Amino acid sequence: MAAIKFNHQFFLEADKIGKVKAEWLLLAKGHAKLTRSQTVPQQHFFRRHFSPQFTRPPVLFVTRKPLYVHSLKLLPPCGGGWEGVYGNAVSAFQGGIMTTSTPEASTPEARAIPPMHNEGQGAITGEQFLSRLRQNPPTLYVDGARIADPTTHPATANMCKSLAGLYDLQHQPELRELLTYEEGGKRYARSFMVPKTKEDLKKIGEAHRIRANYGLGFLGRAPDYMNTNVMAAGAGAEYFNGCSASIAGDPKRDFAANMRKYYEFVRDNDLCLTHALTNPQVNRSKMASELPDPYIALGVVEETEEGIIVRGARMMATLPIADEILIFPSTVLKENADKSRYAMGFGIPCNAPGLSFQCREPIDVGRDPEDHPLSSRFDEQDAFVIFDDVLVPWERVFLLYDVELANKAYAGTDAVLHMAYQVVNLKIAKTEAFLGTAQSIVNAIGSGGFQHVQAKIAEIIIMLEIMKALEVAAREQAEVNNYGVMTPARAPLDAARNYYPANHARLPELLQLLGASGIIMMPSKADREGPLGPQIAKFLQAGNASAEDRLKLFRLAWDMSMSSFAGRQELYERYFFGDPVRMHSALYEVYDSSESVQRIQDFLNRKGGAAHA
Ligand SMILES: Cc1cc2nc3c(=O)[nH]c(=O)nc-3n(C[C@H](O)[C@H](O)[C@H](O)COP(=O)(O)OP(=O)(O)OC[C@H]3O[C@@H](n4cnc5c(N)ncnc54)[C@H](O)[C@@H]3O)c2cc1C
Repeated sequence: MAAIKFNHQFFLEADKIGKVKAEWLLLAKGHAKLTRSQTVPQQHFFRRHFSPQFTRPPVLFVTRKPLYVHSLKLLPPCGGGWEGVYGNAVSAFQGGIMTTSTPEASTPEARAIPPMHNEGQGAITGEQFLSRLRQNPPTLYVDGARIADPTTHPATANMCKSLAGLYDLQHQPELRELLTYEEGGKRYARSFMVPKTKEDLKKIGEAHRIRANYGLGFLGRAPDYMNTNVMAAGAGAEYFNGCSASIAGDPKRDFAANMRKYYEFVRDNDLCLTHALTNPQVNRSKMASELPDPYIALGVVEETEEGIIVRGARMMATLPIADEILIFPSTVLKENADKSRYAMGFGIPCNAPGLSFQCREPIDVGRDPEDHPLSSRFDEQDAFVIFDDVLVPWERVFLLYDVELANKAYAGTDAVLHMAYQVVNLKIAKTEAFLGTAQSIVNAIGSGGFQHVQAKIAEIIIMLEIMKALEVAAREQAEVNNYGVMTPARAPLDAARNYYPANHARLPELLQLLGASGIIMMPSKADREGPLGPQIAKFLQAGNASAEDRLKLFRLAWDMSMSSFAGRQELYERYFFGDPVRMHSALYEVYDSSESVQRIQDFLNRKGGAAHA
């Protein structure tokens, strides 16, 4: 290839006015290094032109982290060459070094995601999870800057520790048998197990419950949730060969084989997954194809030898601090069959070139866990997901262009039921946490003799017992599905996933009603250790406990019912499994009421006054 001469223009955007010193290093494979250094005057950007000769797009490294600089852009080279290659190149700090991503990503080989492998050991430890995140950090942005290392960044570090704790749980000697299972000489996380019997399902449920208790049920998206998704989709992989674009036996486009392989890949490496189903909330009265830009909603741009290129965005992915993102079909896709570019299913690494996660404002504000017991541990994050011409290799594509198959994928593979089974166990753990906290408050302030207080506790007990009963019913009425998987019964799970979102908000309300001023008058740990400490100890003691223990309890109640963590939980419970309005409609559509209707008909047709049927 002939050398091409061009000028680079570097834009350093500073978020504060001031002197910015930058040094950079330009590298291209097979070429000499070029180093430059420049002090940037008081301005938001500067340009630097020079004309190296390269045969391929170089990669820019800024070797010394410039103060205040949060992004860097490379403009298209002048004078021909890789026109447009650098158009959208936005760089980020990675371990103190700022590198451009797009130039590398623009070469086909660099854009490629490494092939999947199942050489993993099975169930990993917390340290292995953290080290994997450090090596391959997801492309997360928060407050206008890239998170270089989520394990140390203040917005995500504590959550990473909590996730690591969850991975460690499966290696605790007394829990190992339950939280993992053995197959083919390896031990895997229990949530990857394909249940064949009701006993299997029971063990899976118990494992879900133990792991849910780790976060008191407030960790909505522990990896178990998505594990059950890929397990069911992998076991029901044959479903994906029904896709019109799938070619059975083809090394690239056999979608059933791809799905099966993906399941094994995720299981063998004990990967942590996030997922995003819904399109951006631009205009819900329009179809995706009717929006001002056809690629606001995530769509397929083109097919290449290597895979499909996708562009657009998805509205929400909880737990973006993950290894991979699963893009499954939105269950509310309403496109015409000819607009099928929006129907797709695939899984890619969270640092795939061109993929970015815009995180919401962190809820973990760095307070002591004694003061913010939940928010300081379980801010799982929610992110907006942007796909800037992301290449998805064929082996990671499970579904394409087929609207009907896309809309039915969760039901068709029964993934929705295995996910709902994890959810019902999680919500039992959460309701138990509310019960324990509410009863502890009542014990602390001696209000248990009042009838209305007892009635309020009884409300929580009723909710808990309903959820427990639905879990048992789902398990006991389980049946083997078309793919040989023991599948929990749909009706009780549908009842649970409609009942809980509709009633959850009453739980924090009950804590407020029972705790009253105690949930607001809670001096912090620092206050307790400050000059008013002795008075706090005297006046804020509990009937049955010291001020320190009482305040810890009320701080927990606050984080469960009043804090921004609690506010986000409330919204999460309303929507995380979908829009309650449409979920009720779906239940109406699938539930078989014919026997009940018939009974009424028989009654109406009954002659005479006899009481017997
Ligand atoms: C905290 C949180 C975490 C989440 N995490 C994830 C995640 O990890 N992955 C993921 O994929 N999703 C996630 N979700 C998104 C969730 O799937 C959606 O919130 C849910 O499907 C509703 O969609 P929407 O938010 O786009 O609401 P919209 O569809 O925009 O609805 C907004 C309002 O309009 C009404 N409406 C809109 N369209 C219709 C219609 N056709 N018929 C009747 N009413 C309508 C709704 O009832 C609602 O009142 C999360 C949501 C929250 C709040």
